[in-house]
Amino acid sequence: MSKFVDLTGRRFGRLTVIKRKKTDDTNRTYWICQCDCGNIKTVEAYALKIGRTKSCGCLSVDIARQKATRHGLRHTRIYNIWRNMKYRCEHKDHPQYIDYGGRGISVCEEWHDFMMFYKWAIENGYQDNLTIDRIDNNNGYSPDNCRWVDAKIQGNNKRNNLIVEFKGKPMTISQISDLTEINYEKLRKAFHSGRIYKMFNEEPEDSEV
Ligand SMILES: [Zn+2]
Repeated sequence: MSKFVDLTGRRFGRLTVIKRKKTDDTNRTYWICQCDCGNIKTVEAYALKIGRTKSCGCLSVDIARQKATRHGLRHTRIYNIWRNMKYRCEHKDHPQYIDYGGRGISVCEEWHDFMMFYKWAIENGYQDNLTIDRIDNNNGYSPDNCRWVDAKIQGNNKRNNLIVEFKGKPMTISQISDLTEINYEKLRKAFHSGRIYKMFNEEPEDSEV
């Protein structure tokens, strides 16, 4: 039998050990823990030490919810903004690459994770009528150089600035209109209402997120 270690007061993930649980089982030690969410859970010492149990069970629920949320966000305007931002900085086939990636404008490390970008967007005043703006035009996309501004103020309503992903490639509304023979005005309205993201976005591969 291994040496008894008092875990009282120690923290394992979301669990804080309150006290030892008395049991008839002489081979195992059990600890009564309080989870950050408020639940009480009894856990075997071994499971705590090797990191098998890190919460009352709420942690895996949260992770599952987060994954579902990320998936659920794919057809949203923020997702499209994020994809476009990365695309125009990193892919030469983006219609605006020359003004972004071509000029050395990049997306910061942190924002390569969509959920990090999403979190920043929501916490920093994102609204459906706003567009992302770089405060210093010579610097890249990062939390300290970006803000949400009115699309009209930014001059983003110019014809060649209305870009959406079509069959996996970013294209201007006019290009899509030419290809699909869908009326330009109809596409423009769908763009501004946000409906367009559902019209053309195909499921991106998981690796991209
Ligand atoms: Zn919990």
